[in-house]
Amino acid sequence: MSLSWKIFLGTAVVIAVVLGATIAVTDRAANKASMAALDDALAATRAQVEAVLDARRSSLQGGAASFVQGSGFVSSLSQKKTENAFDQATEAVTIIRADWVQLTDEFGVRLARSDSASAPPDTLTRSALISGALEGDAVSGIVESRGALAQAVAVPVREGGTGRIVGSLMAVRTIDSVFAQRIVRQTGGNVQLVVFILDENLVPAVSVTTIGTPNELTQLLRSREWKPDSAGRLGHVELPVGAEQFVGQGGLLLSASGTPYGGFLALRSADAALAPFRALRTTLLATGGAAMVLAFFVSFVGARTVTRPVKSLAGAARRAAEGDYLTELPSAGKDEIGTLTTAFRALLADLREKQELVDLLQADEARRTVQLDAMSGTLRMAALQPGALAPGARFARRYEVKEVLGAGGMGTVYKAVDAELGEVVAIKTLKADFAQQDQSALERFRSEIRLARKISHRNVVRTHDIGESDGTYYITMEYVEGRSLKDLIRQRGALKPSAVITIGKQLCRALEVAHEAGVIHRDIKPQNIVLGPDGVLKVMDFGIARLAKRSEGVTQAGMVVGTPEYMAPEQFLGDDVDPRADVYSAGAVLYECLTGQLPFTADSPIVLITKVLDEDIVPPSQIVPGISPALEATVLAALSRSRDERPATAEALFNLLVAAEEEDRVVIASAPTPVRGNAVIEAGRA
Ligand code: ADP
Ligand code: MG
Repeated sequence: MSLSWKIFLGTAVVIAVVLGATIAVTDRAANKASMAALDDALAATRAQVEAVLDARRSSLQGGAASFVQGSGFVSSLSQKKTENAFDQATEAVTIIRADWVQLTDEFGVRLARSDSASAPPDTLTRSALISGALEGDAVSGIVESRGALAQAVAVPVREGGTGRIVGSLMAVRTIDSVFAQRIVRQTGGNVQLVVFILDENLVPAVSVTTIGTPNELTQLLRSREWKPDSAGRLGHVELPVGAEQFVGQGGLLLSASGTPYGGFLALRSADAALAPFRALRTTLLATGGAAMVLAFFVSFVGARTVTRPVKSLAGAARRAAEGDYLTELPSAGKDEIGTLTTAFRALLADLREKQELVDLLQADEARRTVQLDAMSGTLRMAALQPGALAPGARFARRYEVKEVLGAGGMGTVYKAVDAELGEVVAIKTLKADFAQQDQSALERFRSEIRLARKISHRNVVRTHDIGESDGTYYITMEYVEGRSLKDLIRQRGALKPSAVITIGKQLCRALEVAHEAGVIHRDIKPQNIVLGPDGVLKVMDFGIARLAKRSEGVTQAGMVVGTPEYMAPEQFLGDDVDPRADVYSAGAVLYECLTGQLPFTADSPIVLITKVLDEDIVPPSQIVPGISPALEATVLAALSRSRDERPATAEALFNLLVAAEEEDRVVIASAPTPVRGNAVIEAGRA
């Protein structure tokens, strides 16, 4: 599984768990809250029904109470005129708006019943309504009337003057479907009403319902365990009627003596009541789902952002392992991957440079033997110099001479083994003339070497020590293998621009660290630049030229130590030199690398100086075509006669070279693409 998948799946699992849990918890909380809200609404509905029932009862009661105050009515009742009583009961029905009315005398004997002219004169004192009324109270309660529940009130009938109770009037209003429909209307159709009768065993039988059929509802109610609470209320009842789920609350309907005769349920459609909650849940799920999709997308993109540069780094590393160092890496930010990319890019650049120099050296392998033969002549010359040491000789009691490496303006260089440390070193013995200098010059030289010793850089040949043995001054340094740049140019002529840039960059790095350490080389020339077999360029002789300049500047007798062709004009003129003198020399080295020629040549130093001061340099591209303008401008800038016009530091020159390199690379990249790095370089050259 790839890293991006791992990151993505890891993130996705976390997102799914967190979001899922959030949705579940929110859903439960919302469910709970909506149920509580529903129950509140149901309680309100029940109270509404109760209020309607109560209003009906009190209107019935009020009507009855005011009706019985009529004097004619009272006297006829006290005279027990049955025929009158029936008429009055019938009249009362209309006025009170009852379904039926019955009248009794003061003993509770029925005088008339409005709905039944032939009702027998039974004694009704067993009824709590009648007996209560005869005792002087207005009493109300639920009665059963013709298979339905009804609200009933009974009021006493009093004689005008005495206030004696002469009878009672009982008025009944059925709780019928008209009433039920009115409840439905009053609640805007939100509430359905079911009224049921209870038998002695409290088994319900529905008498009125606004949903389903009474039979159906009866079955439903009977199949359910439900108990009224102490206040006679029926809490949360759920009824599936047809395809719809109803929830509701209800109450018991009691007789005047407190016996439950029946009850009612105020129901709401659960679907309608819970619709807001369902909508909320849908929204919740939709948002949650969308959030999850978005989060997955973001985590996927995030995973890709992390792994894409890693992938391209891996690809570049693989190609580098195959020898292709030309991979362009995407520029990265300042995060860890950016740091890695930058580091890897630097590594690739380094490998590229090494490869460049290695290629340069290898291309010459065949001609190397010839060069070695040529060298041996020089060596013989050196060995013949007076005071030269022979291989096997011991020098300064410490160094065992192995071979003569060469001879320069200042003395002979040997390869030797440091017997004390068991290390191979190079020893440069200085000609006797140098030892004869004044003490202050020698001291300046020593302090310069002390500074140079501190430079530790892979592009700088390490200076070990300075010493004196039997009047011979010598310097020991790191022994380096490889070919001097001078040899290379001598044999190959102009080098390809990419190689020149690589050489220039490494030369600049060496100069940079030396200048930082306070050491000016003063004698930068191809002879002092070695290309190692590992592709690393090394600059030799830091600090050594100080001695040479002080003793024999060209301004004196034209006796130049080193090679004046590479010297900055201010060096000829005896001015104090600064790092820009090395920048000039580096420019001269690069010019020679590019063209195979020196910027100026002359038979004598005096003529050379005149040329340096007066003549213009032939632009490299006029000697070798195909040199990019940026590279040419860089080299010519370094060779500016006035040091103010040169790149101010080695670092500045380095940066110009990098810019020129990038320009060249763009040109190469737009050419047909060879796969291998080396092939690209060759193509760029062609
Ligand atoms: P120049 O720099 O003018 O060539 P030098 O006296 O500096 O004269 O060097 C003489 C020769 O000795 C050079 O050709 C160089 O190749 C060789 N040489 C100098 N220093 C070293 C060293 N540290 N390791 C190996 N060879 C060296
Ligand atoms: Mg040298």
